[in-house]
Amino acid sequence: GLKELSGSTLDISKTVLDVKDLIVEYEVWGKEPFRAVDVVSFDVAEREIVGLVGESGSGKSTIGKCILGLQPAAGGEVKLFGENMIGRNKEEQKAVRKDIGVIFQDPAASLNPRFPVGDCIAEPLVVHKVGSKKEQRDRVYELLDAVQLPRSTYNRFPHELSGGQRQRVCIARALALNPSLLIADEPTSALDVSVQATVLRMLAELQDEFGFACLFISHDLAVVDLMANRVVVLQNGKVVEQGLCADVLHDPKEEYTKRLIAAAP
Ligand code: ADP
Ligand code: MG
Repeated sequence: GLKELSGSTLDISKTVLDVKDLIVEYEVWGKEPFRAVDVVSFDVAEREIVGLVGESGSGKSTIGKCILGLQPAAGGEVKLFGENMIGRNKEEQKAVRKDIGVIFQDPAASLNPRFPVGDCIAEPLVVHKVGSKKEQRDRVYELLDAVQLPRSTYNRFPHELSGGQRQRVCIARALALNPSLLIADEPTSALDVSVQATVLRMLAELQDEFGFACLFISHDLAVVDLMANRVVVLQNGKVVEQGLCADVLHDPKEEYTKRLIAAAP
C-alpha cells in the first residue's frame, strides 16, 4: 500500500500497534488513583489478530480506550504505525486515529437512533472530510454490500434492525476509511449465540479481504481462540502471559490462565 511507499516508514517493522509499559489510572475522589492498567506491553503486527482476554474488570476496555486517545495514560507508550501517541495533541491524535476502526459491545448504544443507517455508516467519512457527498454515498453502498446488508438498509433506522444487523452496520462504519487497525471490544458479547457465529465469520472474512490488523478484546476464550493468532491474558491490569493461542489457550503456563480456561463454558 501507500504506507510502504513513503520513505519515512521504510525502516519501520510491520508493527501496527506497539504498547509499551502502559499505565492507566482513574482518579478516585479523596483517595490514591486506581491503577486499572499496570505496566502492560504487547504488540500487533500488520494483518494480525491479537486477542486481549481477562475477567470483567481486568482492564481490557481501558487499554482499548487509551489506544484510541479516549483515556489518558499515566505512563508508557502507545505506538501506532511507529509513532508514540502519548503526549500528542488532539489534532495529531485525530490524524492517526483516522486509520483505526472501532467496534464496541453494544450496537444499540453506539448508533445514533436519530440518523438513518446510511448516515451512521458515513460518519467517519464526514468527520474526516473524505470524498464528495456522492462518493460518500457510493462508499456506504459498497460497505453495505461488504457486510451483506441490502442497499435498502441505507434509509432504515437503527431501531428497525435486529441486533446482529446493527452490529454489521457498526462493522461497516468501522471499515469506512479502510483502517489499518480495528479495535473490537467485545463485538459479539451482546448478541444471541446464534447470531455471534455469523458476525464472527463475517469479521474474519472482512479481515482477510481488507487486510486490517485487529485487537480483539473479549472475555470469551473460545471466541478469541477462534479469531486470534496470539493472545494477551490480563489479570488486575497486569499481563499474566501472552503468546500464540495454540500455546497459551491449550497449554497455559500460569495458574490464572488455567483457571480462566476451566471456568469457561
Ligand atoms: P474490562 O474491560 O476488562 O472489564 P475495564 O477496563 O472496563 O475492564 O475496567 C478496569 C478497571 O477499571 C475496573 O476495576 C473498573 O471498575 C475500573 N474503571 C473502569 N472505568 C472506570 C472509570 N471511568 N472510573 C473509575 N474506574 C473505572
Ligand atoms: Mg470491557
